[in-house]
Amino acid sequence: MSKVAFITGATRGIGKQIAITLAKQGYQIALNYRKENEELEKVKKEIEENEVECFTVKGDVSIFEDCEKMVKQILEKFEKIDVLVNNAGITKDMLLMRMKQEDFEQVIDVNLVGTFNVTKNVMNHMLKARSGKIINISSVVGVIGNAGQTNYAASKAGIIGFTKSLAKEVASRGILVNAVAPGFIETSMTEILKEEIKEEITKNIPLKRIGTSQEVANVVKFLASEDSSYITGQVIQVDGGMA
Ligand code: NAP
Repeated sequence: MSKVAFITGATRGIGKQIAITLAKQGYQIALNYRKENEELEKVKKEIEENEVECFTVKGDVSIFEDCEKMVKQILEKFEKIDVLVNNAGITKDMLLMRMKQEDFEQVIDVNLVGTFNVTKNVMNHMLKARSGKIINISSVVGVIGNAGQTNYAASKAGIIGFTKSLAKEVASRGILVNAVAPGFIETSMTEILKEEIKEEITKNIPLKRIGTSQEVANVVKFLASEDSSYITGQVIQVDGGMA
């Protein structure tokens, strides 16, 4: 049976592109969404054009019980999960002086605790299977920091520590754990920024342009494949040279 990939937060942006890219490689797709929206059916259809199944599972990654339920549903459907992509993420940007504790905690809860919640539930299955690939979506901001993003940077740096530690814990069981740290990528997360801010950011990118979701998905495709069989505990930056 073909491989199964579970991607969180995959109804738009980078997650959607990862799901479509893996579907083109022949993976069966388990796609997580948080709330029903008109995009969901469109993405499912686009994935299924590649003659693979797209099984959608509803859940909020920051809620442990939701993750437990989603993994159970996927295993009932496909009987395995070969690749997990922890992609769901949010921002809540502001300077520390204005940031309330709940603004900090909300971002940590979705980005970092969410990564823990999903991984913890998938791990039992991968340990039994003695194989699996976990790919965590971090950010260049978790590597170099960014004013106005203390909450987000802390969550994304946390994902890097989590990735490196887990890679060492489960390597002997045939499970590979890596992170991808995108730079500035054109999605709904970044389109809210003002044009002049985007121009300023672009000036500081050595490749002088904003990246695409496909450029991130290409690296995820590589990490999910057999071509990366001797790579674990790494952070691959897809940032046009920013870091
Ligand atoms: P996006 O367009 O805002 O999409 C984020 C996705 O995550 C959406 O599908 C969203 O679902 C989902 N999500 C948010 N909170 C969730 C939760 N609690 N449970 C389940 N799903 C949830 O963002 P993106 O730019 O594609 O970002 C994808 C990942 O890449 C994130 O981890 C982000 O931090 C990282 N990243 C992005 C950039 C960039 O420049 N865009 C750079 C570096 C890293 P809803 O539709 O329900 O909100």
